Amino acid sequence: MQGHILSRYAGWPVIVGAGLAGLMAALELDGPCVLLAPSFTGEGTSSTLAQGGMAAAVGPGDSPASHAEDTLRAGAGLCDPAIVQRITEAGPGAVETLLRLGVPLARDENGQLALHLEAAHSHNRIVFAGGDRSGQVILEHILQQTRKKDTIHWLQTTLEGIHAPDETVQGIWTSAGFIPTQHCILASGGCGGLYQHTTSPLANRGVTLALAARAGATVRDMEFTQFHPTALVTPDQTSRLSLISEAVRGAGAMLRLDDGQRFTKELAPRDVVSRAIAAQLREGRTVFLDGRSLPGEPFSTRFPGITQACRKAGLDPDTQLLPVQPAMHYHMGGLKVDQTGRTTLKGLWACGEVACTGLHGANRLASNSLLEALVCGQWAGRDVNAHKDSSGPLLTSTPQRPTFTTDWPFRAEMQQHLGILRTRTELEKFLELTLPLARQNLCALTASFIGWAALHRPEQRGAHWREDTPGLQPPRHLDLQMNDLPL
Ligand SMILES: Cc1cc2nc3c(=O)[nH]c(=O)nc-3n(C[C@H](O)[C@H](O)[C@H](O)COP(=O)(O)OP(=O)(O)OC[C@H]3O[C@@H](n4cnc5c(N)ncnc54)[C@H](O)[C@@H]3O)c2cc1C
Repeated sequence: MQGHILSRYAGWPVIVGAGLAGLMAALELDGPCVLLAPSFTGEGTSSTLAQGGMAAAVGPGDSPASHAEDTLRAGAGLCDPAIVQRITEAGPGAVETLLRLGVPLARDENGQLALHLEAAHSHNRIVFAGGDRSGQVILEHILQQTRKKDTIHWLQTTLEGIHAPDETVQGIWTSAGFIPTQHCILASGGCGGLYQHTTSPLANRGVTLALAARAGATVRDMEFTQFHPTALVTPDQTSRLSLISEAVRGAGAMLRLDDGQRFTKELAPRDVVSRAIAAQLREGRTVFLDGRSLPGEPFSTRFPGITQACRKAGLDPDTQLLPVQPAMHYHMGGLKVDQTGRTTLKGLWACGEVACTGLHGANRLASNSLLEALVCGQWAGRDVNAHKDSSGPLLTSTPQRPTFTTDWPFRAEMQQHLGILRTRTELEKFLELTLPLARQNLCALTASFIGWAALHRPEQRGAHWREDTPGLQPPRHLDLQMNDLPL
């Protein structure tokens, strides 16, 4: 099917995704633009699910340099120090932006911003709102502000293709038709939905990343998938798992085995805690989070959203142990971008979780992703403003529409072969399933990039842990294009 041309929007910048990164880009753009997403309520975004909050060095005794140091340490040698410095320095300004946009960040009894402590941060530096509903509160307020800007045109649809002959964007296909444009900002989130156990929206399966790669964009460090240590175990293994935020461990909750013993440091980096839990589960043990005697206020008062999720599963966190398991939570890899969010395709920017900026390296420091989504969304918008007048003539007819599939029957296999603890044999088994499909199926293409990169990184670095090849190799990024896969 060719699809008709949406000439009303011809030449306007298009933003794909209405999570935090997309909304911030839309607020920055100074002319008419199209904001394209399947929903404009927060539904389908990871942003609205964020519990802990946003990291920024705004507390007494803290500094962006200390925030940068913690970020670099967590990133296990693969962060880009320049971007780490730039984003951590932008942290205090990002907090001001949230306040300016009317977000009611929590305050302490003295009226100062209240700050949580999270794993591997050396200071209390997580601003939050609505108790443990930070993402929901932030997104609601930013959506309200975005709606006031009448240059933003809301198009409720999905991205289905990127037309980029000669590595230059000339338009995009949506389910509503073709938009001729030379400026597209992808803010379309991560790919957690590829996994059976995930805290991300199930619709986030890396489809837009695969579309960009099909159009010729380079992806970077795809093997780095972060598993959150503590997702609530529920009998239904097909739905998205509820997250029990790191802030709960920051507040004093402990990890225990079925016999009550502790077995790991609760505030060690995420990958360390996830591996410790995965190893216990592999031995057939059950792992619990114990928040029954937190210092200060009880669990249910401090964490009302998590309490609601626990009660839905028939558990009372004030009086009962919570069974937990690790779940795919965040993708550090993604579309390779420079400091302004430009991908390797002219006219295609990426920001938020779909992008690989170099902030997270091999492992994301908790609560750095909302910060990255906010500031990189702004930077991408500003860069489009600065360059949108320098483009050539627009297409006036619709090019041939590509057809792809997006069904994904391999969530369990992804979990089994491409989970926390990896081996060459398991990775090869996985690629045998996905590579034959990856030309046609967009989920298989993204999954194959992750599997191929994991196979070609025989080391234990950050969130990527090859059990068959212990130790570290000299740090290097792994850049891939579609042609690098044996398809
Ligand atoms: C449960 C949970 C808790 C978290 N807690 C925190 C936290 O406390 N602090 C922190 O910093 N980070 C946290 N994170 C991570 C953080 O929320 C995300 O990394 C961040 O919000 C990503 O923002 P984004 O705008 O890039 O993507 P998202 O918010 O996921 O938005 C993506 C948008 O793209 C749209 N989209 C996808 N595909 C298409 C398509 N084909 N066409 C059109 N639109 C499309 C989606 O519908 C959505 O609107 C958490 C993540 C989860 C899952």
